[in-house]
Amino acid sequence: MSWRLLILGSNAAMPNHGRITSSQVLLTDKDYYQIDCGEATQIRLAEYKVKRNKIRAVFISHLHGDHIFGLPGLITSYFHYSRTDDLHIIGPPGIKKLITTILELSECHLDFTLQIKEVKATEKVQVYSDSTLDVFAFPLDHRIHTNGYLFIEKTQKPNIRKDMVSKLKLSVDEILKLKAGITVDREEAQKISPEEVLHPQKSPHSYAYCSDTRFNKAIAAYIKNVQVLYHEATYTDDMADKANERGHSTAKEAAHIAHLAEAKTLVIGHYSGKFRDVTPLLDEAKAHCPNSLRAYDGEYIDF
Ligand SMILES: [Zn+2]
Repeated sequence: MSWRLLILGSNAAMPNHGRITSSQVLLTDKDYYQIDCGEATQIRLAEYKVKRNKIRAVFISHLHGDHIFGLPGLITSYFHYSRTDDLHIIGPPGIKKLITTILELSECHLDFTLQIKEVKATEKVQVYSDSTLDVFAFPLDHRIHTNGYLFIEKTQKPNIRKDMVSKLKLSVDEILKLKAGITVDREEAQKISPEEVLHPQKSPHSYAYCSDTRFNKAIAAYIKNVQVLYHEATYTDDMADKANERGHSTAKEAAHIAHLAEAKTLVIGHYSGKFRDVTPLLDEAKAHCPNSLRAYDGEYIDF
């Protein structure tokens, strides 16, 4: 199964320089997952031709406006898309009040069920699961409570090698045992191990979303060995004091977390409006973590 991350918005605080605020969609072969939902998310979904009925769940990091102001519009517009499937929304405490208040005051009635789950993660905790993936929340270090999210692909049962089935004349019972990871004992001390007859499994896709946050080493432990790490990089190193004061990180600090977590790829984003051109941020990340990419509106990151 392939995973793609589509960046809908990459700017901090407010739309600027042609970038909207934090918004991403994780695209799998089966379903899509919205991550944060900044203002103008719907414009981007239309612009990049994202089938919004495929969005199965929305994950909100925190309640600052630049991460949620697109959410009421997204929910209420589903009326025009004849949505009937449940929509899962996972976010910090307060998200339910925010959504229900807006729906109530605007007298909006939905033809589908909103499954809202409030999570204030103080450690790594599972918050969502379906046939494609599991999602865990963990605490970030911002001015208000903020959840980071870790998406891990569910591994499929390994397939058996057809050549080995005929060569060893494996029975159905033996195949089931081997697929379950159990070694088969035959007469005359013959043993057949799962490794011998199963196709090697690919390691599962994984994606960690860390926005917004100060530099905090504890984050790395929650996302150890993640395949792709998105970590905010609002400022460059010369503004490290300002970053810390405002609950944000520098590109160098994002790279430091990627290094500690042993992430294979770092993606930076959440750029301060001071940066019309984000090259200095990407250069700084690359200087400390060569495998760094920039998140930018309209760009895809393939896993
Ligand atoms: Zn924030």
